[in-house]
Amino acid sequence: MTRGLVLSRAQAPVVVTDLALPEPAEGQVLIKMEACGICHSDLFITAMEKPPLVPLVLGHEGIGRIQKLGAGVSCFAPGDRVGVTFLASTCGVCEWCRSGREQYCPRQLNSGYTVQGALAGYVAAFAQHLARVPEGLSATEAAPMCCAGWTAYRGVKETGAAPGATVAIFGMGGLGHLAVQFARHAGLRVAAVDVSEDKLALARSIGAEIAVLAENAARSLQKEYGGMDAAVVLTGAGCWSGWRMGLLSFRRSTPFSKASPFAGVSLERGRISRTSCAWQQPAWSTRTSSSMRSMMRPRCLRDCAAASCWGEL
Ligand SMILES: [Zn+2]
Ligand SMILES: [Zn+2]
Repeated sequence: MTRGLVLSRAQAPVVVTDLALPEPAEGQVLIKMEACGICHSDLFITAMEKPPLVPLVLGHEGIGRIQKLGAGVSCFAPGDRVGVTFLASTCGVCEWCRSGREQYCPRQLNSGYTVQGALAGYVAAFAQHLARVPEGLSATEAAPMCCAGWTAYRGVKETGAAPGATVAIFGMGGLGHLAVQFARHAGLRVAAVDVSEDKLALARSIGAEIAVLAENAARSLQKEYGGMDAAVVLTGAGCWSGWRMGLLSFRRSTPFSKASPFAGVSLERGRISRTSCAWQQPAWSTRTSSSMRSMMRPRCLRDCAAASCWGEL
């Protein structure tokens, strides 16, 4: 037996409940979990009128250690430390999968949404998109990297900004403060924008050279700093003022041309990016493991009572 945080039916209260120990199917591994973050997407799923799968174990920011391999799994071994992300599996053959943009795969399965998630003592997860997690990283610090971390990373990466360029990052919350660290690691000069002085102080403490309040931010970034080479807007899809400020903060010559059809709002081909949840590049954690240990540091921005339920799992 194990225990998990379960949504039993649409819009029902989420409860910690006993579960049968899962058996890894073909392509899956059994993971003993160490920690799992709670994402706003988990809350969104619990509020859905018609969630795609119930009963559902929530969670897509899980860190754990592999206990057992299912049939056909050769890329991991028992004892390996891994992270479970929102992207559980993808088709591997569509144009998005073949171009390293698996997050747009129309046949993807998602942890804690269309397949069982990681908020449990033991989890059977597909091996395809598991990330290797460095031993030196604590489970609670590594967990948010499985969703917020990759989302922020992709936002910075898709700007295409070269070292030395100045990037404005709008929103210093759970994603934004990680985006600042990724941008600094990429050699970018960061201008942080937020409505909160406290968040701007945090941004400065983790490497933002410029920090401005959101009110009149675009004007300030233009007049005082000559405009931005790129912008990453992490203020939420519905926050159009963030988008507007991002566009207005660009330096005159910054290219901006094409809107992505995804959700009608993601402007990826230009120099502004608003990322979708849970982007992942499988080798990323291996390539950046040393820098993650030394530079990347998710911060606790708000106490959450739900975190205490982990002790019951
Ligand atoms: Zn998420
Ligand atoms: Zn695909």
